Amino acid sequence: MIIFAKVETIKKDIRLLSLEEIKELFANKGEAAYRANQVFDWLWKKHALSFEQMSNISLGTKNFLNDNFDIKAISIQTTQKSIDKTIKTAFRLFDDNIIEGVLIPSEDRATACISSQVGCALACKFCATGKLGWARNLEYPEIFDQVMFINQQSLETLGIPLSNIVFMGMGEPLLNYNHVLKAIEMLTSPNILNFSPSRITLSTVGIVKMIKQLADDKVKFNLAILLHAATDKKRSLIMPINEHNSLSNLIDALQYFYSKTKTRITLEYLLLDGFNDSIDDARDLAMFCKNFPCKINIIEYNAIDDGIYKNSNAEKVKAFIAFIESKNMIINLRKSKGKDIAAACGQLARKNNIKLIN
Ligand code: SF4
Repeated sequence: MIIFAKVETIKKDIRLLSLEEIKELFANKGEAAYRANQVFDWLWKKHALSFEQMSNISLGTKNFLNDNFDIKAISIQTTQKSIDKTIKTAFRLFDDNIIEGVLIPSEDRATACISSQVGCALACKFCATGKLGWARNLEYPEIFDQVMFINQQSLETLGIPLSNIVFMGMGEPLLNYNHVLKAIEMLTSPNILNFSPSRITLSTVGIVKMIKQLADDKVKFNLAILLHAATDKKRSLIMPINEHNSLSNLIDALQYFYSKTKTRITLEYLLLDGFNDSIDDARDLAMFCKNFPCKINIIEYNAIDDGIYKNSNAEKVKAFIAFIESKNMIINLRKSKGKDIAAACGQLARKNNIKLIN
């Protein structure tokens, strides 16, 4: 008896094709070019997640697309709502990996915090995602999908569309450069979401080479650096990446970025009790900030399960901020949201028991 093994064909995600490539595909099939535009519109503008949804596309064309391509859309696995209205969503990817994204409401804003990688290889000591390790980079449609789903949540729960997007979820966006920039291109395209680049912030640990690349690409979105310590000695203790991207090289890259883009840089600084919250630390930070136009966001730390670091007390936070202000620098205190559902900064992947599939 002959037994036929089931052959799984791996179909390409059609959203990885450009409009020109879809046009070429349709031309080879003898289809009119406007059909390619219609399909592209369904995929990106109307965010269709299946070929069946494309109501003005003929059955024959839908069958052709179905036979040859997939739409590897992400789907919502679970959502958790915080008492402060923050919503954390675990998204399931086509390969069953899970990533997280967060809708963060504030007085006049609705911000999506999105992921760029499945896990993260950089192992920052204060971060729950860093403890997972890395499985793979997200493809740009998977990044785009997170924004579309979170935008829908914003419309349904807050009654407003997203006002801001931050790449501050799982992963280091500059280690997935091409797909992150392509996702931003789709989000800001006037023909797709038309999101303003000035309302998008890419947050990075500071990969020097890639910051220079951003500058050469003259990006129009904002750049935030997860600084967290202003001396190499201290920074290397909590962020291993610092060993190959020293602060003096980071300063060079940020000066270069500013010279090319004229965009003021944001420095994110977690205050960790007894580690980086003294007046001497504030002085080091003020010195570092003198090198280029910037503002500082002090972020409240949200302890993760290992309990090595904890948040600074209110008195130390106040003294630290007062010192920086006395140097005429711009500094804001950012209160974390979604702590009760582990959606706050550095906590992603903590409560969903996420395991990576390599
Ligand atoms: S802080 Fe960012 S770069 Fe560092 S381990 Fe966490 S996700 Fe990775």
